[in-house]
Amino acid sequence: MNEKTMGVYVHIPFCTTRCDYCDFYSTEGLGAPQQGQYVSSLLHEWECYAACGIRNDWRIETLYIGGGTPTVLVPAHLERLLDGLMERFETSHLQEFTVEANPGTLTEEKLKILRDHGCDRLSLGVQSFDPFYLKWLGRSHDVQAVYDSWAMARRMGWDNLSLDLMYGLQDQTLDHWRQTLQQAIELQPEHLSLYQLNIEPGTPMAERVARGEAHTVDEETARQQYLLAREVLLAAGYGHYEISNYAKPGKHSRHNTLYWKNQEYVGMGAGASGYINRVRYTNHKDLTLYTRMIKRNRVPRAFEETIDRELQKKETILLGLRLTEGVDKKAYQQCFGRSLEEDFGAVIRKHEAQGLMENREDTLRLTLEGLLLSNEILLDFF
Ligand code: SF4
Repeated sequence: MNEKTMGVYVHIPFCTTRCDYCDFYSTEGLGAPQQGQYVSSLLHEWECYAACGIRNDWRIETLYIGGGTPTVLVPAHLERLLDGLMERFETSHLQEFTVEANPGTLTEEKLKILRDHGCDRLSLGVQSFDPFYLKWLGRSHDVQAVYDSWAMARRMGWDNLSLDLMYGLQDQTLDHWRQTLQQAIELQPEHLSLYQLNIEPGTPMAERVARGEAHTVDEETARQQYLLAREVLLAAGYGHYEISNYAKPGKHSRHNTLYWKNQEYVGMGAGASGYINRVRYTNHKDLTLYTRMIKRNRVPRAFEETIDRELQKKETILLGLRLTEGVDKKAYQQCFGRSLEEDFGAVIRKHEAQGLMENREDTLRLTLEGLLLSNEILLDFF
C-alpha cells in the first residue's frame, strides 16, 4: 500500500472576543447551537474528501486544532468533535496532537476531554505578562488567567506546552521585553513562539494607529528585541529552530515543521488552508457558504491553485529557509533532479556575498543577519 504522510489542521473560527490586532478569521460570541452545527459540518467535510476522490491512503502523523480559539467550544461539542475526528482517522501513526488555547477558556473538564482524546501538546496564547499590554492588545484574559491555565495544564499531565509572546509593542523597552522573556522562562515552557506585532489593515489596531492613538516600536528596536530574545532563550537552553520559534531539544512543533518542509496537509474548517495532491486551497470563510457546500457533499473551497514544479521549487526554498537548519540540498536534488545552485545560483551568490546566506556542502541556510532580513531575501527567489 502506498500511504501518503499527512498532517491535519482543523480550524475553529470562534473567539471569546476579537483582539484589536488580529486579522485571522474568527467570529466572537457564537452560542452552543452554532458551535454544534459547525462541528457537524467539520466532521462531514472529512467525508467530502472521500466523496470527491481526494482522500485515499493518508497516514496522519500530526493533528493541529487551531483558530480562533478551539477551547471556546463548550465541553459537549469539544468532545463530539474529538470523538468524530478519532473515529474518522487512523490514529495509530499520530506523533503529535496540538490544540491551541487561550488563557481563561480552559477548564478541568475541557482539559480532561483533550487528554482523553490523546492531545499531547497545548499552545497557549499568552502574548504578554503585563496587564497594560494585554488591555492595549484587546486580549480577553488577564495575567492571572495565564498562570491559572498553565498550572492546570501541568497538573493534568501536559509535558509539552508552548506559549506565544508578542514584541514590538507600543513603547516596549528592551528591559521590559527581557522581563517578559524571564517571566515566560520561569514557567518552563517546552516551546515558545515570538511574534512581532504587525499592524494589519482593517483591524481596530490599524484604525487606532491611523488616528494616532497607538503605535509600534521603530525598526531598530524591533531588531534589538529579536536579537535579545535569541540571546536570552539560547542561554536558557532553547534551540532557535525557525525564524520565530524556539524549543527544548526534541520539542519543536512537528506539525508546523511539516509546513516548513513543504509537505502536504489537510486544512479543514471555514477559512482553513491546505495543500493536497499539489493543490493549495483555502476554504470559504463565510460560515453559511461553508456549511451549504458541505451539505451538498462538495469540498468547501473558495480558492485553489495547482502548484507546478517551478512554483514547488520556490516554495521549498521560501519555506525551508525559515528553518535555521536550512534547506537540505541533497533532498532538493532528489526531488527536482537539479541542484539548488543550478536553479537559484545567482540569488544564492548575491546573498552569500552580503553575508545573509550560508551555502554549505549539505545545506543552504540564512545567517542570523539573514533571518533578520528574511522577508526581503525570500522574495528574491520569486
Ligand atoms: S484569540 Fe487569537 S484568533 Fe482570536 S481574535 Fe485574538 S488573536 Fe485572533
